[in-house]
This record gives sequence, C-alpha cells and structure tokens, in this order.
Amino acid sequence: MTAARYLGNHAFALEDAPVPQPAAGEVRLRVAWCGICGTDMHIFHGKMDARVKPPQIIGHEMSGIVDAVGPGVTGWSPGDHVTVRPLDSCGVCAACRAGHSHVCMRLKFVGIDSPGAFQGLWCVQARLLHRLPADLPLDLAALIEPLAVACHDVRRSRLAAGEKAVVLGGGPIGILVALVARAAGAQVRISEIDAGRRAFATALGLEVLGADTAAEVEAWTDGAGADVVFECTAAAPCAALMTQLARVRGRIVLVGIFTQPVQIDLFRVFWRELELLGARVYEAADFEQAIALAPSLPLDRLVSGRFALTEIGGAFAAAPTGMKTLVACS
Ligand SMILES: [Zn+2]
Ligand SMILES: [Zn+2]
Repeated sequence: MTAARYLGNHAFALEDAPVPQPAAGEVRLRVAWCGICGTDMHIFHGKMDARVKPPQIIGHEMSGIVDAVGPGVTGWSPGDHVTVRPLDSCGVCAACRAGHSHVCMRLKFVGIDSPGAFQGLWCVQARLLHRLPADLPLDLAALIEPLAVACHDVRRSRLAAGEKAVVLGGGPIGILVALVARAAGAQVRISEIDAGRRAFATALGLEVLGADTAAEVEAWTDGAGADVVFECTAAAPCAALMTQLARVRGRIVLVGIFTQPVQIDLFRVFWRELELLGARVYEAADFEQAIALAPSLPLDRLVSGRFALTEIGGAFAAAPTGMKTLVACS
C-alpha cells in the first residue's frame, strides 16, 4: 500500500509500505478520502515540526471502509463505512474524569501526534470510529470532521431558532458554522473581506455583510446587537470587533485559534454582561450530529479540488486557494 510521509519543509515522500496488521482494539481501514485542514497547512509550512516529528504520516479529515478488525474488537465488520474522531484522550485526567475528554489535559491528536490518514491502509483504535450511512458519498464524508467542529461551535453557543448570529470569517469553518447555524433555524450573516469568499458564501444563499460590519449589525438588530457572534478568523481586528456586535447577555464563541495575545474590549464584556465561550474540536455527539446533518447540507459545493495520493504535493499547493481539497488515498 502507498503512504505519503511528510518530511518537513513542504516535502512529502511516497513509500510502498507493507500491509499493517491491526493490534488489539484496532481496526484496519481502507482510507477513501482525506481532506487538508488549516492545521495540515501549518504542518506543511514547517510550523509544527517539533510536535509532528517528521518523517510522519499526517491527515485527520477522513472517510474509509473497515478492512480488517483486530483482536477484541466487536461491533465492526469489514465493509462498514466509517470516519474517525481523531482525539486520543487519556481517560484519567481531571478533564476526562469530568466528562470533557475532548479537552483532555494530555490530549493526543491522531494525525498530528500519531500517524494519520494520508495512506491507503490505516490502523486506528476502534473506539474512535463513527459509523457512516452507506449512502453518504465517501468524498463528502471526509468533511464530517470539520462539520463536527461547526456542530460543536454552534452547540457551545446555545443558539436557538430565530436568533440572530454573526459569523466573522468566511473560510471553510466559518461557512460550515453558518450552515449549521442556519440549519438550527437561526438568522445568519457572515462578515468576510475576501471578494472570492464573499461570492462563494453568497452563492450558497448565505447573507454577507458589507465593509462596515458593526454598522450593518446595528441596523439589522435595531441597535440591540446579535444574539451570538462566532469568531472564526483568529485575526486581531475581529477580536476587537466581536464585542461590539453582541447584544446584552449575548454569547461570543471563540472558534479561531489565536496563537498570540490580542486586545479584547473587556469593558464591553462587563457592561453588556457578555459571555466569551471557548470552543475546541468536538465531542462524540458533535460527530453524530454532523453525520445526521451532512445529507441536508451543500457539502459538495465546498469541495474545491480532488487529488490522488501520488499528487499530495500538488494538493497542498492548491489547498489555500480553495475551500476544501480532498486526497483519494486508496
Ligand atoms: Zn482539521
Ligand atoms: Zn485526559
């Protein structure tokens, strides 16, 4: 079978690897498709080499078919369509014991801290599998993982039908958050400065705010402010802006990954009794919701490129120009 190994500094090597045998508690998957995520792009640019430890097989937004089951695995059979929730939590830390294993204090992310899915056959722990309906196309099923992120973000916001939500950022996650929020019955507007992304959101039937987001939200909400703001850019100007957009007791969900401290108007948080909510990855329920929602969402429109595993370098080169780039792994 073919595996693509990230070597560091924008380089992959293809190798012909022996068929791996699943250990106890593992299944062997025939990987169908694996998407390229923003985190994969960070890895590709060499920004996470200390953690990834190249040469390493990365990739975590995948779909596949069970190929073989290891000793002690029950409930799964060859031919089952599945996706993997790529979170390996310790089970014993305070966060795990409190029921928040997705933010385990010793969390290992599969495909970053351990080998990932850019390979034809992949052995993973059976407890990380989610079953896919056989009629969900496997290319679109590779979007279940980012869609589960959006489901988690919306769940954290406690968004109710009829509420007004502003999504800051029209990248892949911002678009998915907007689609999930709309499916929840909310009124949604996206703020995005890139012309191509604005046009894409509009083509999906999403409403896009103009250059003066604050003024438009004020007019849209009769001066009250939005019920929920999703910050999906990790850009400092949006961190400054987000508190201006939320109503009294509104909720702000922090989706973008800020790697540096930024300025936030904490007076506004105090004055309006705002809630700032962190939202990181997903829980099992978010994967199940994503799988249930997927057939009703225009996920096919988000797929901007398809590549063979042997073209993985080209796939990574193309990924920043589109929404979601997929790699066929077997
Ligand atoms: Zn990802
Ligand atoms: Zn833990």
